[in-house]
Amino acid sequence: MKTIKILHMYADMLDLYGDSGNMEVISFRCKKRGIECQIDRYSIDSAMPDFSSYDLIYIGGGADLEQQHISADLLKCREGIVDAYKKGTFLFLICGGYQLMGKYYRDADGNDIKGLGLFDYFTVAPNSRRKRCIGNIVIETEITGKKVKVVGFENHGGQTQEVKTPFGKVLYGNGNCSKSAAEGYCEKNVIATYLHGPCLSKNPEISDYMIGYCVNRGESAKISLESLDDTLEKECRQVMLDRLLKK
Ligand code: GLN
Repeated sequence: MKTIKILHMYADMLDLYGDSGNMEVISFRCKKRGIECQIDRYSIDSAMPDFSSYDLIYIGGGADLEQQHISADLLKCREGIVDAYKKGTFLFLICGGYQLMGKYYRDADGNDIKGLGLFDYFTVAPNSRRKRCIGNIVIETEITGKKVKVVGFENHGGQTQEVKTPFGKVLYGNGNCSKSAAEGYCEKNVIATYLHGPCLSKNPEISDYMIGYCVNRGESAKISLESLDDTLEKECRQVMLDRLLKK
């Protein structure tokens, strides 16, 4: 089987609430199946990578200040990322990373941080830093082909608007805007979400959707993933579902 290649961008700047843990989960699940997984890092001043040579590009979340710091560098990568996305590289984006793939993020001080404009949504934070969407969140997504409940933790001021194809519907928590019905953005090769946690630790189906996508990218015959014993992961998720959804 081919080696899965992942590019983790700005791990040193955008890594809130265990976002880097998502890379550990993917690498662990690949290792259990004997799939080679190479994770490279890119940050400000790294040499410009060949983005389309990666099966997956990952960007975590960050505070407004970190988003400002990486913004100019991210814009330099625009052409490469757009090209990779068009060639089928998977984009996995958490919170601040999600916001910066849209048109812009207007931060709590009213400064516009230009996004890559890859997608049509935009994000505006309220002027007051006290008005934030903070807490546990449960959504239901169908990206894997069947309904899956996904649990995580959100902490964002940004209210993301004009999202055409959300990642899931909100069962508990806020989502794209305060008390909104929809959460995140998705396409076949994009998952953009406000869920930290790290998101993948209690949601093995989402990890496997991405691993399966990467393993099959460019292959003519479909490769199925060996199933793993996810008893512990699912029990952890169930604790949260019981706590949050049962009245
Ligand atoms: N700074 C952004 C906001 O507050 C993103 C936060 C995050 O990545 N958790 O909306």
